[in-house]
Amino acid sequence: MDLNYLADLLYPGIKTMPEDIEARFPKRELPEGAKVTRFAPSPTGFVHFGGLFPTRVSERLAHQNGGILYLRIEDTDSKREVEGAEENLIETLAYYGVKFDEGAVAGGKSNGIYGPYRQSERAEIYQTFAKKLIREGMAYPCFCTEEELNSIRAEQESEKADPGYYGKWAVWRDSPIEKIEEKIKEGAPFVLRLRSNGSVERKIKFTDLVKGDIEITENDKDHVLLKSDGIPTYHFAHAVDDHLMGTTHVVRGEEWLPSLPFHVQLFTALGFKLPKYLHISQLMKLDENGSKKKLSKRDAGVDMRFYKEKGYCPEAVVEYVMTLLNSNYEEWRAANPEKDYTEFPFSIKKMSASGCLFDFDKLNDVAKNTVARMSAEEVYTKVLDWAREYDVGFADKLAADPEYAKSILAIGRGGKKPRKDIMIWSEVKDYMGFFYDDYYKVTDAYPENIPEGERTQILADYAESYSSEDDNNSWFEKVKAISEKYGYTSDMKAYKADPSAFKGSVTDVSNLIRIAITGRANSPDLCTICKLLGEERVRARATSVK
Ligand code: GLU
Repeated sequence: MDLNYLADLLYPGIKTMPEDIEARFPKRELPEGAKVTRFAPSPTGFVHFGGLFPTRVSERLAHQNGGILYLRIEDTDSKREVEGAEENLIETLAYYGVKFDEGAVAGGKSNGIYGPYRQSERAEIYQTFAKKLIREGMAYPCFCTEEELNSIRAEQESEKADPGYYGKWAVWRDSPIEKIEEKIKEGAPFVLRLRSNGSVERKIKFTDLVKGDIEITENDKDHVLLKSDGIPTYHFAHAVDDHLMGTTHVVRGEEWLPSLPFHVQLFTALGFKLPKYLHISQLMKLDENGSKKKLSKRDAGVDMRFYKEKGYCPEAVVEYVMTLLNSNYEEWRAANPEKDYTEFPFSIKKMSASGCLFDFDKLNDVAKNTVARMSAEEVYTKVLDWAREYDVGFADKLAADPEYAKSILAIGRGGKKPRKDIMIWSEVKDYMGFFYDDYYKVTDAYPENIPEGERTQILADYAESYSSEDDNNSWFEKVKAISEKYGYTSDMKAYKADPSAFKGSVTDVSNLIRIAITGRANSPDLCTICKLLGEERVRARATSVK
């Protein structure tokens, strides 16, 4: 058969040759060892945690050594496309510090010379390479209708044969040119298929940078390369695009691993150098019985919008992702509390081949540590930003007196062992609300061993003696004196030795004051709190208790 004739018959509009296209995509000039990686999402939904994870790997691999991270939109399936998904994706990733050097940008535009970066705009490129495969006898048209394919599938089922288009089932594989011409004349739709030379009797050996050495059965299926609208399948586009765009490392989910033999075939048939691959395992979670399960789309914390609404700062989420990615990250962080995560020497070798466990407790712990490292000023700005979107009333309170809010947030901050009271912004109102009269409410019970009548007397004494000039020491001396006056010992040693000898101790009295002033039994340093509240408020609260 005249294969040049067949190629022109199938794609008459395509006059370009692979060399023309290659010339449009010059080899990248990058420093030695620099990697080119990409994020290649289908715009079919919103970014989820499992998507952020491999993207961070691509980002670190590229940016750690002066390489390039680009964004390619895999929009070859218009039926599954979701309006606004592309914009959302770019925005969300930027929020988590993943910035692209090149590729699709918002507003349908792009940035870089290796475009177009949206696959729907690259039809001519794919068809040019498809024609090359046809000319070389490695691809052929298939005119099977949906019904014909269904009946092949049904027959395979009844024969218990492997499903797919191959061997005797590949009915168009060796069709004479006349039959093809006839169909084309009729205007019948066709797909283009690979003429596979693989065999299920053979295996390919392959080294994945995360999974290690692997052997997988060759591909013997004549898979579809171009669909009937001339738009490629993921597989064909992957080979063409990652070659032309100069990707050195393909980071993607392990669900693509079974397709790898097909991809190897495609790169070989097209005469392209195979990139390096990192197949990332699915994230796991522990179920109620403590056994590992794959994280599903419906699990809490999978949708990235959850983190924003709850007020997890993006820095904390990034930090958590880093702990999942490299087993030695936490150790590094402990030794380098002040450094930016980008200074961490990320290594593929330290990635888990078997899958990471997504653990909320761990994330929360990381979040507390991350916030604890921030200055009061920083926390103030971030909480205010969050509240402006999610709690306007609280935002107004914070904005009305920034200095007051910052002094509150400064309590216990700085130093070697900063307090870890704040985890997420949505909890901050509860944490500092008692500093604002509108939010102040006594929610904890007063110490039981102080009778009600005495309670008001003690608090009246506290109100009277309180001075915001007092330093920590003199403040506590006053509290001790009040305690002694009512028979609550300030001698903690004696109290511990024989509690029954006393009505109670200064701890009970302090707790009473704490609950009256803050509304709760747990709070940061009470003397500091009183100072910030000011004498008037302290007196008012202490004397309002009945
Ligand atoms: N569009 C594919 C996906 O969203 C990309 C996989 C890849 O990175 O190659 O799963």
